[in-house]
Amino acid sequence: MTSCDRCNRPSVTYLRYSGQHLCSVHYLDLLRRRIGKELRKQKFKPRGTTIGLALSGGKDSVLMTRLLWEIVRSVKSAKLVALSVDEGISDYRPTSMEIAKGITRDLGIDHDIFSFREDTGHDLDDLVERTNLSPCGICGILRRKALNVLAARNHCDIICTGHNLDDYAQTVMMNVLSADLDRMARLGPHERPLPGFVPRLMPLRSTPENETYLAALLMGLPIHDRECPYSIDVRRARIRDLVLLAEESQPGARHSLLNFQDKVRPLVPRTGSVSGNCGLCGEPIFNDDGGKMCKACRVISDILVR
Ligand code: SF4
Ligand code: ZN
Repeated sequence: MTSCDRCNRPSVTYLRYSGQHLCSVHYLDLLRRRIGKELRKQKFKPRGTTIGLALSGGKDSVLMTRLLWEIVRSVKSAKLVALSVDEGISDYRPTSMEIAKGITRDLGIDHDIFSFREDTGHDLDDLVERTNLSPCGICGILRRKALNVLAARNHCDIICTGHNLDDYAQTVMMNVLSADLDRMARLGPHERPLPGFVPRLMPLRSTPENETYLAALLMGLPIHDRECPYSIDVRRARIRDLVLLAEESQPGARHSLLNFQDKVRPLVPRTGSVSGNCGLCGEPIFNDDGGKMCKACRVISDILVR
């Protein structure tokens, strides 16, 4: 049995990108230090702020919620509030919502849920039946709005999301392959406020997905590890394979993609400023949304009018 590089306990993981074997104690210690470093880099200043935690009930968001609770609990003037979006996906979301309710109850964190049904009168399951648009395309647009609504009604200064290193590296790779400078400029973490948009921080963005799973298990956190029945995004799946292939031939490739984004973003001019408010729901409209409706209202009216 391989033992930990720092003590005699058995190793529970081998971090190929840094060549370390670590036991559970030293792995969790490294993870907590890494999250602290990442938050400092993202200019996280909890004092006097209300921090929204995007909580789906999956491993990443549950782990993030627990770690942020540990970091913020001694800061009396900071407030955490968990924000959950219920898309209306039967056989999937109800279980994870129960997990989200359970962990917020255990940690004593306020929890607010906003559903697609509350917003549009329809569950995602129902919307998907009525259109040929991709479920993830509809979901992504409505979810972005739902998180903004949740952040506004809870007076959040920032929102922390549970994106891990694999998610982040895939997004950078997609933006590079489509030469999408606008998305590159808008991709979080946002160290400063953006007009009409609550800044997003990503505490787990330098932690690989297999490690968030391991950490959640080691910490005994309740997690929902089923896949969404609509997660058949072929493009994202191919990009995931590509990034994993790069990581296999060059350990650390995912970190390099993250560093690339951090180096390039300050050089890319920011576009997409707010041009007004949606005539239907009042949410901000960005220049590139076009028209007098926000993207979410436009997608809903396209689906329901058909
Ligand atoms: Fe929404 Fe697609 Fe994620 Fe399912 S996989 S929750 S449909 S974005
Ligand atoms: Zn709208």
